Amino acid sequence: MDASPHGLMRLYFRILLSAGAAVFLLHAIVGLLTGFGDRYGPVLIGMDAVLLLLGVLGNELTAHAQAVNRKPPSGGLLAFVGAYLILCATETGGLASPFFMLVLVTCVFGALIMSGVGATLLTAFLGVMHAGAAWLLPHGVLRDGVEGMRAAVMAGRSMELAEVTSIAMHSAFLFLGAWIAHRLSSDFRNRVVTLEDHATRDPLTQLPNRRGFMQKMRQEIARAERYAWPISMLMIDLDHFKMINDEHGHAFGDAVLGQAAQILRDSVGPVDHLARVGGEEFAVAAVAADPQHGAELASRIVRRFRSHPWDEMKPHLRVTCSVGVAALDTSRSGASPDASLSRMLDEADRALYEVKESGRDNFALAPSTEEMAQPQLRSPSQ
Ligand code: GH3
Ligand code: MG
Ligand code: MG
Repeated sequence: MDASPHGLMRLYFRILLSAGAAVFLLHAIVGLLTGFGDRYGPVLIGMDAVLLLLGVLGNELTAHAQAVNRKPPSGGLLAFVGAYLILCATETGGLASPFFMLVLVTCVFGALIMSGVGATLLTAFLGVMHAGAAWLLPHGVLRDGVEGMRAAVMAGRSMELAEVTSIAMHSAFLFLGAWIAHRLSSDFRNRVVTLEDHATRDPLTQLPNRRGFMQKMRQEIARAERYAWPISMLMIDLDHFKMINDEHGHAFGDAVLGQAAQILRDSVGPVDHLARVGGEEFAVAAVAADPQHGAELASRIVRRFRSHPWDEMKPHLRVTCSVGVAALDTSRSGASPDASLSRMLDEADRALYEVKESGRDNFALAPSTEEMAQPQLRSPSQ
């Protein structure tokens, strides 16, 4: 089931559609058998037909909102459909009408989709509509139109205690249904947000993990290809980190990773993406940064690791890193964001491997990226 607001709205309208179709058939069969004897036969079928129409229309409106990435038109539409359902309920047996169940369903779906305030307003509106309709409609207001409405208001109507009690009880049911639905949906939403956070964030450094990084990068690459922005991908790996763990213990290694994450945070720009993509491996995607900028950032990171006062953590401690840089080639049109991403990560990884091979504590550009960059950046900084 699609539990997004659009999905829930469409489910609501499908329920209306099914209920409308069922009562339409039922009323048509009973009408045919009894020869549409009473005045209600055709009226009921007309009401069912309008309900069917509202189901189709609501479904289409929601589908359109989803297609153009807008919020579903929930508040006004639910209030309108709910008010119509109350008219149907009052005209077809009042409080005992099966249409009343659909009013309850309307409040429940309102509470699933809307904010607490919105859902309360909707439920209160339908509760008041319900009481008003029960008071006015027995005068034949629908039949006699505006004149009937005026006469009914002028004449007034004294209600039985039992009638007033059941209206109050029914309104209370509407609120109860909406409240339970709202509690369940906000619990559900909170849990989804927490799970998403756990699945995409690294608890040690509080940076996005590989999964979170990949998610963001898919959007970022699609955007970059659309606007022909360059992106530089940096893969950063701490040098001889195993030795730090072996010499000072795993807990100390964790503290070094935390410090490394902080250095990287301070080095990247506010629109860039930084993540911990492996044990002692980090990635930076510098947005709208061409290979020259990527190389400058890599060089800055290497220098910052070198000059960081690591001995404040442990005397004689020294932590360095190696960086591989690859650029997104937006001229290679046709590749999917996923393919561009894995090519870029692959190239950055290979450039990183070259740095490790040639002595670490430095950065290198992937060969294809180097072609795009200026010649003076070809030699790694020392
Ligand atoms: P190189 O310079 O070639 O990258 O050498 P290295 O020792 O850094 O690389 P290697 O891949 O051999 O070792 C990585 C180490 O990182 C091994 C692993 O124990 C350590 N590591 C991975 N994740 C964590 C972590 O979360 N905390 C700590 N303390 N260590 C970790
Ligand atoms: Mg390493
Ligand atoms: Mg590594």
